[in-house]
Amino acid sequence: MHETKVKSILSAQNGMNMYRGCTHGCIYCDARSTCYQILHEFEDIEVKSNTAELLEQALRSKRKKCMIGTGGMSDPYLHAEKQLKITRRCLELIDEYGFGVAIQTKSDLILRDLDLLKSINRKTKCVVQMTMTTYDENLCRILEPNVCTTKRRAEVLNIMREEGIPTICWMTPILPFINDTEENINGILDYCKKAEVYGILLFGIGLTLRDGDRQYFYSKLDQNFPGMKEKYVRTYGNDYEIPSPKSEHLMKIVKTECSRNNIICDASQLFAYMRLFEDKQAGRQMSLFED
Ligand code: SF4
Repeated sequence: MHETKVKSILSAQNGMNMYRGCTHGCIYCDARSTCYQILHEFEDIEVKSNTAELLEQALRSKRKKCMIGTGGMSDPYLHAEKQLKITRRCLELIDEYGFGVAIQTKSDLILRDLDLLKSINRKTKCVVQMTMTTYDENLCRILEPNVCTTKRRAEVLNIMREEGIPTICWMTPILPFINDTEENINGILDYCKKAEVYGILLFGIGLTLRDGDRQYFYSKLDQNFPGMKEKYVRTYGNDYEIPSPKSEHLMKIVKTECSRNNIICDASQLFAYMRLFEDKQAGRQMSLFED
């Protein structure tokens, strides 16, 4: 772990990442791709030590409140967060200044900050996004080795439901020939139904691979699934998009179950929902793009 000071923290669309790199070890992690120009070891987390200071400045100077997004490129609840509490400090600021938040993680450490999530959600809107890709617990420990398993993530979603905090499940990526099965999809769907998630985000059934990410993924396939790398190379060559041969069939299951259970699975609708700022106290709604 090493520290750095950055010049700004909020992107043009009000997204932020407090860390660069991640220690959760997902074998398919896109954030490893060389296009993101992470020059240090991926597990040697870069901590943006002036995050809170910059966030406070940014929130203070905004003319209108909006949703703040986090968790896109690095998990805000990676291991170092337990001691550093940078994510927690950011949530305190978001709460204090009356902004909303859409936060994405795989870790149950998010429960530590339930008090703040509830407080934000009382005043505006807090959307918790949990990634769940693998129903089988043993397989999950191989694919996402250093973070709590799907069963525990589903428990977190249930707690959010009890607290009235809206949730979205990222059901992606699904790995061809590994977890692209009806059993897996139905298992995750059952968790989502029980947790009454607001939405399920996915972009077909499959994954993407590019330079950096691909090499790491293949090395993990060699380690855990002998012969699988060769199957990927034979089937997909050097393609960026790696769709499951069962994509159409499995997507049909997802869409049918979502529509039966009142779960939104249209990605643009879900992104619009996460960007829509809601002022519950004033009963007003403002889009992030109005800033
Ligand atoms: S939690 Fe996200 S950022 Fe971290 S290793 Fe897994 S996919 Fe990558």
